[in-house]
Amino acid sequence: MDEINIFVGPAVHSETPEKITCFPKVAIAVKDGKIVDIAKDGDLKNLNQINVSKAKVINLDKGQFLCPGFLDIHLHAPQYPNIGLGYDKPLLEWLRLYTWPLEMRYGDVDFAKQVYENVVKSTLRCGTTTACYYGTIHEESSFILAEIASRFGQRAIVGKVNMNQNSFPEYIETTEASLADTKQFIEKVKALNNPLVEPAVTPRFAVSCNFDLLKGLGELAKKYNTYIQTHICESKGEITYTEELFPEFKNYTDIYHKSGLLTNKVNKFVITLLIELLVVIIVIVKIYILIFKDHFGTWCLSK
Ligand SMILES: [Zn+2]
Repeated sequence: MDEINIFVGPAVHSETPEKITCFPKVAIAVKDGKIVDIAKDGDLKNLNQINVSKAKVINLDKGQFLCPGFLDIHLHAPQYPNIGLGYDKPLLEWLRLYTWPLEMRYGDVDFAKQVYENVVKSTLRCGTTTACYYGTIHEESSFILAEIASRFGQRAIVGKVNMNQNSFPEYIETTEASLADTKQFIEKVKALNNPLVEPAVTPRFAVSCNFDLLKGLGELAKKYNTYIQTHICESKGEITYTEELFPEFKNYTDIYHKSGLLTNKVNKFVITLLIELLVVIIVIVKIYILIFKDHFGTWCLSK
């Protein structure tokens, strides 16, 4: 407690999206995990907010530099063992051939522990200090992922995935079980009492969830004020199928909107939009969803 570390060395910092600032030598004082003082010239005498004599000074080695942590706002942790596989299939086939068979294995908590520990360690090693994780439909192993992130000090938003239709019989939930497990998951993650780790309501996508489930999830997200993450318009096959599954809705966005899943807590939403046959991946951080033209040609405004 009250330990102060001073890191001394070069730093790279981006003050705006267009501007990168490099400091040849800075001194950054950190107390209880928080930056408490900075000397931009690297001179310890200019650290006035702390008692330098009681601090531990860490000088960076040649070639090392400090930079802000990376944020990965869409990460399917269970798919880690499949990295690099499956580029030969479109989305819906890829899910059945590669993704779900692997995700089914996370009913085994020992397997989950092994993979998730590797995921958290690997992402941290690469400088990812914040990650928004998808787990699987398994409550227990998804909670293990949150626990591991908490233990290793990574900022994480973690979701237990929901799927009650159009999957393998062995990898599907009933609506009731899906909602009950999600409620339990949210409560357990909140009970970790770690401000760095939060739960997210995580319907895989509209293909995998009927409207009752989506609506129930919208209610849970509202009740517990959680983040929400999902997918939308990733491929033409998915869009056509969604249109067939939900003919009573105006468009894909409308399904989520009517489910109560488009709220101002959707600030960790990752959307792949199909705009005039051009797939554009837009990553939205800390802003509401922008005006966009969805695949049905409707201009949508959501927030
Ligand atoms: Zn995804």
